Amino acid sequence: MASTGSAAPGAATAVPLTITAGSGGPPGRARPPRHLADLRPADRRAAAEDLGHQGFRADQLSRHYFARLTDEPAEMTDLPARLRDGLAAALLPRLLTAERELSCDRGMTRKTLWRGFDGAYVESVLMRYPDRVTMCVSSQAGCGMACPFCATGQAGLTRNLSTAEIVAQVVAGARALADGKVPGGRGRISNIVFMGMGEPLANYSNVLAAVRRMTDRVPDGLGISQRAVTVSTVGMVPAIGRLAGEQLSVRLAVSLHAPDDDLRDELVPVNRRWKVAEVLDAAWQYAAATGRRVSIEYAMIRAVNDQAWRAEALADLLSGHLAHVNLIPLNPTPGSRWTASDPQVAREFEGRLAARGIPVTVRDTRGTQIDGACGQLAASSRPGAPPAGGRAG
Ligand code: SAH
Repeated sequence: MASTGSAAPGAATAVPLTITAGSGGPPGRARPPRHLADLRPADRRAAAEDLGHQGFRADQLSRHYFARLTDEPAEMTDLPARLRDGLAAALLPRLLTAERELSCDRGMTRKTLWRGFDGAYVESVLMRYPDRVTMCVSSQAGCGMACPFCATGQAGLTRNLSTAEIVAQVVAGARALADGKVPGGRGRISNIVFMGMGEPLANYSNVLAAVRRMTDRVPDGLGISQRAVTVSTVGMVPAIGRLAGEQLSVRLAVSLHAPDDDLRDELVPVNRRWKVAEVLDAAWQYAAATGRRVSIEYAMIRAVNDQAWRAEALADLLSGHLAHVNLIPLNPTPGSRWTASDPQVAREFEGRLAARGIPVTVRDTRGTQIDGACGQLAASSRPGAPPAGGRAG
């Protein structure tokens, strides 16, 4: 309730970056600069050598970035002073600039608006709970899936994020926690959810590499448990199959929102390509391959998908499978004609699933005051609207 929305315009300092200078391409077309976190551990030494350095410099940089959570040359005192700036600029370029920070829940929920090298905006949200810290990350600037109840879906896709841009959101959160900047004392990130902007499986290879960087052992990566990472998808069936073959133990979340194709075609337009039955088949294959319960996401939308018969239809689909339903009260988005289900109706829906033996919980809606909850991430200061603090992009 106590919203303490504080804006810190232009809080971060970024190393100015120019890549393919003068290429003059339209914004969003150039690729983000290469970063150590884009590279597999095995390729990092070669990258350092290509730059004329000794291979072990890459190991030192990995330790700075993934263990000490820094990309500041001045802090890299184990590197000769004359090499620091060059190495950091070449292998640890600052990819994202914090344009604005908003917090609520007494600082336990923090949303950061990031500006990319090309002016693209993305957001990440850190949520601290008594027993864990969850980081919600973006995988794309915007989203091409066009779900009508989701703010990100309204703006369309700007571009995919690079692996390192995804990882950088987590590193920034981890650094804030390590520095004691989040109320509750020093801490670490325990969970990651790909539930920020974008459809992670539409940016498959960069997302997969980001999962590896997040979960590889320190200092190759951030050392977060694979089991604590959730990849959430609208239901891109071939990509779910591919993910099932990666020998990972990350959790899969499927944004179902309706048990019937008629309604799901409208709520999740990609359903016109891959139907409910195909999506769930892929989900059960994922569960069989990984042994992990699939999370079924269901936004409760008043008088749209919250009827008793739809609860029963959903139970029919899930019964006997390794699934858990997350009911999410619809979060308001600008211009949407829909609202959240009546709490009594939502409870009844939950009760019907539970009575059929389906594990079900109602997701908390952290961050609604700062538009940081599911479906509210729209990166409001995009080019065209003057960003907070009036900085030019
Ligand atoms: N593209 C991915 C991940 C991003 S959205 C996906 O769709 O799964 C993360 C979750 O928030 C999804 O389940 C999504 O359907 C849900 N969501 C989107 N808009 C919402 C809203 N307005 N209220 C509640 N949940 C919403």
